[in-house]
Amino acid sequence: MHSYLLPGEDGWTLVDTGIGLPNAQEVWQESLDGAEVARIFVTHFHPDHVGAAADVAELTGAPVHQGELDYAQCELVWGNPEWPQRIADWFHTHGVPEEITEELIHSGDVYRPFIRYQPDPELVSDGDRLDGWELVAAPGHADGQLCLLRDGLLVSADHLLGRISPTVGLWPESRPDPLGDFIASLERTIELAPSLALPGHGDPIADPVARAHELIEHHRERLAFAEASLGDDPRSGYHVSFALFGAELKPAARRFAVAETLSHLERLVLQERAERREDVGGVAYTARQRGRRAQ
Ligand SMILES: [Zn+2]
Repeated sequence: MHSYLLPGEDGWTLVDTGIGLPNAQEVWQESLDGAEVARIFVTHFHPDHVGAAADVAELTGAPVHQGELDYAQCELVWGNPEWPQRIADWFHTHGVPEEITEELIHSGDVYRPFIRYQPDPELVSDGDRLDGWELVAAPGHADGQLCLLRDGLLVSADHLLGRISPTVGLWPESRPDPLGDFIASLERTIELAPSLALPGHGDPIADPVARAHELIEHHRERLAFAEASLGDDPRSGYHVSFALFGAELKPAARRFAVAETLSHLERLVLQERAERREDVGGVAYTARQRGRRAQ
């Protein structure tokens, strides 16, 4: 995971803070090497981006800026001891067996101490400016994710990654169509036409517009594949995730696979290429019943 230091007149803007390991302050003290941090910006609430925000804020005395929607979700997920059970129940309705949902509750408890987000940050949103940078909403990978744009340079967080396709999952309490959001965000990236992107993981992206086109095409293919894996019998998101991601996944990876499968299935429902059934003891999906008469 990359953090970035953006230069400014009153000091540096630090973008993202990494996970909140117990020695986060020591690591940051060493990395900053006396650099004056004027403000901290959190692109989205995932552990590797927000985790050490409170540590770095304490170390530097700099205020934390975080998106309004993103901070609401951050509190909902990391500030809420009920969340692991809530998400486990939700996965259960999507066909995920108990051994995997149990693991999910356990790993939620393991992760929690490493996520020390800053309470009451300065809330920002799309179109705001931060030390000359424009904040650009990029929902998809995370509903409230914000990128920074200035002079053709896009600090793209996990919206645009070079080698891997950012995960785009449906989660409880997430916006209803994360994949539709992601495609719209990619189309917006194409319109903004940045000349360089600095992603949250991996190398700088020399042609962000071409990469956005590639990701749109990737999901067009994945949608077609998801559509083809549906039939007349109702299949849960868990079931379909085996067709999309294979059978050999550990529980932690399986839940991302299921969430990503569901974002594709929900997109297909909205495009009238699949149907959602909730009368089968959970949520499941079928191929679109062509020619079915309205009753
Ligand atoms: Zn992320």
